[in-house]
Amino acid sequence: MARTETAPASEVLVIGGGIIGLGVAWRTAQRGLSVTVVDPAHGGGAVQVAAGMLAPVTELQYGEEPLLRLGMASNERYSAFTAELSAFTGLDTGYRQTGTLAVALDSDDREELRELHGFHQRLGLDSHWLTGRECRKLEPMLAPGVRGGLHVTDDHQVDGRRLAAALVEGCPRAGVRLVRASVAELLVTGGRASGVRLADGSELAADKIVLAAGPHSHRLPGLPEGVLPAIRPVKGQILRLRIPEPYRPFLSRNVRAVVRGQHIYLVPRANGELVIGATSEEQGYDTTVTAGGVYELLRDAHELVPGLTELPLVETSAGLRPGSPDNAPLLGPTALPGLVAATGHYRNGVLLTPVTADLLAEYLATGEVPALAAPFTPSRFTTKAAA
Ligand SMILES: Cc1cc2nc3c(=O)[nH]c(=O)nc-3n(C[C@H](O)[C@H](O)[C@H](O)COP(=O)(O)OP(=O)(O)OC[C@H]3O[C@@H](n4cnc5c(N)ncnc54)[C@H](O)[C@@H]3O)c2cc1C
Repeated sequence: MARTETAPASEVLVIGGGIIGLGVAWRTAQRGLSVTVVDPAHGGGAVQVAAGMLAPVTELQYGEEPLLRLGMASNERYSAFTAELSAFTGLDTGYRQTGTLAVALDSDDREELRELHGFHQRLGLDSHWLTGRECRKLEPMLAPGVRGGLHVTDDHQVDGRRLAAALVEGCPRAGVRLVRASVAELLVTGGRASGVRLADGSELAADKIVLAAGPHSHRLPGLPEGVLPAIRPVKGQILRLRIPEPYRPFLSRNVRAVVRGQHIYLVPRANGELVIGATSEEQGYDTTVTAGGVYELLRDAHELVPGLTELPLVETSAGLRPGSPDNAPLLGPTALPGLVAATGHYRNGVLLTPVTADLLAEYLATGEVPALAAPFTPSRFTTKAAA
C-alpha cells in the first residue's frame, strides 16, 4: 500500500499525550526539536484521576532506594517546573508545599511507622516522629485515637488535572504539534522504528519515537516481541469531596495511614477539594467504580478523620496506574533502534513528570543517557529475542 504522509517527518513523535508524554514533549520542544504528540484525548489518562501527591518519602518501600533518588530529584524540580509552566501559559497548576503527615491508628501501625522512621533516618530523609497529641495539634480533625505519626515536610501536592491542562496549553505554544488520533501500529523499517500508522490509515514518520502510552505501551501493534515488558494496569478508585467554606481548612496537609493493611490518604486542595484514595486492584483494563471500592475508602477515611462524613461527595472515579515488573519507570532507548520508552511510572507518574521530561529531552537532544536515568533504561528487562 502506498504511504500517505500526512505531514513532514518530525524529529520526535510521542505516542500518548498523558502527563508523561506531554511533559516530555514540552521539554523536548524547548531543546529546539520538532515534536508531535499523538493521542485521541491529550491530557487524559490516569492524571485525570490521580491524587497528585508528590511523595517520594511517604511512598517509599523497602528496596526502592534508586526510585527514591529519582523521586527526590523530581520533587526538587517541581517548584521551578510548575512556576515556569504557569508563567508560560498563565495557568495555575495547584502546586502546594504542604508536607505530609503519616499516622498510626493502633499499636501495630505505630510499630511499623517507627520502623519506617528508622529507615528514613538511615537514609538521611527529612522525617520527624510525633506523638498522637502532636499529630492532632497539627491536624485537629484527626481521630482522637491516633497513636503517633511521621511528619514529612517535603512531600507536597499538585493538582494533576490543572497540571495536564497547563501542559496541553503550553505544548503548542512551545511548537509541539498535537495530533488527535489513535496510533494503530508502530512502523518498523530496516530494523528501526520509523513512524506510526494512525487509526484512519494515514502515516506519520519520525526520527525518534517515544512510547508513552501508559498501560497500553506494550500492546501497541507492530512492536517487536521482547522490546518492552508487560506494563500492567493497576486500577485505583478514588473519591472527591468538597469542603464548604465554613469548614476550611479542614486539613492543612496530606494525611495518610494504613488501615486494615490498606493504604488510605487524604489530599486537601486550596480550592476546597478533598481527594480520598485509593484502592489498588489488579484485574485488567476495567475502570468501573464499585460500591465495595467506595465503601472501603469511606470506611477507612472515616476511621482516620471522622468528621468527613459531613462533607458533600462530589465525584467517584477510577484509573489505571501503569506498573512495570519492578514498579520503576522505563526511561530511555529500547532494544529497537529509534524507539524510546517513557512509561511504567506506576503510582508516581505525577511526581516523576518533571524529571522524566528533563531526562528524556536530554537524551533526545544529545543521544546520551543521563546518569540519573541509567538505572531505569528498558535494557534491564530486554529479552534475548529483542537484543
Ligand atoms: C487512583 C490513582 C491515584 C494516583 N495518585 C498519584 C499520586 O498521588 N501521585 C503520583 O505521582 N501519581 C499518582 N498516580 C499515578 C499517575 O497518575 C500515573 O503514573 C500517570 O498518570 C501515568 O501517566 P502516563 O502518561 O505514563 O500514562 P497514562 O496516564 O496512562 O496516559 C497514557 C496516554 O496514552 C494514550 N494512548 C494509549 N494508547 C494509545 C494509542 N494507541 N495511540 C495514541 N495514544 C494512546 C492514552 O489516551 C493516554 O492519554 C495515581 C494513579 C491512580 C490511578
